Amino acid sequence: MTRIVIVEDETDIASVVQDYLRHAGYETEHFADGQSALESIVGTPPDLTLLDIMLPRLDGIEVLRRAREHTAHPIIMLTARIEEVDRLLGLELGADDYVCKPFSPRELVARVRAVLRRTAPGPSQGPGSQNDAPGLVLDDVHWRASLEGTPLNLTRREFGLLQVLSRHPGRIFSRARLLELAYDDTVDVTERAIDSHVKNLRRKLGAVTPGHDWIRSVYGVGFAWEAPAG
Ligand code: CA
Repeated sequence: MTRIVIVEDETDIASVVQDYLRHAGYETEHFADGQSALESIVGTPPDLTLLDIMLPRLDGIEVLRRAREHTAHPIIMLTARIEEVDRLLGLELGADDYVCKPFSPRELVARVRAVLRRTAPGPSQGPGSQNDAPGLVLDDVHWRASLEGTPLNLTRREFGLLQVLSRHPGRIFSRARLLELAYDDTVDVTERAIDSHVKNLRRKLGAVTPGHDWIRSVYGVGFAWEAPAG
């Protein structure tokens, strides 16, 4: 059975989340402070952890940081403010997703499912295929890419974004972080310009695989690569 640890000091939120997850068929365990949660998830890593940030004894960021020295299991952060997410992304602590409060329990369960599906070991994670997303081939030297055998006519900017996003499926990148990672000369590029480059990239990918949107917009935060399900 899939075991999910919930680390949340607000008991009302914790019990609603627990009810929904159990109803969805998951086994849950609840901790109300960071220290006991850390001991548990390091001792016996669950299949997934939902981790609040503001916690007594040890805050969620510190729990995440210390947990990552011992375990790579998926961790979804629960944050009270959208501004926190940008800061978290900048810290590159290795969370797998972020959910902002207040959230709907239904939405949270959907995110849990998506993260579990994405992080489950599968045939596509065999050696030699871990760099590029399925169907996608990147030529880093010539900034050329093809999707399912069809060449994508990309600008250098679009290629840079594709490289960063597709090689970290599911990870959410802020515009600031993309600017830093995907553009080597940031002189005249604004965060706003990223939106139009993403839009063009989406259109070019979508022309090859209609019906699948490869790049997910995370409201108020940035973008993430979304591989097709299955
Ligand atoms: Ca809290």
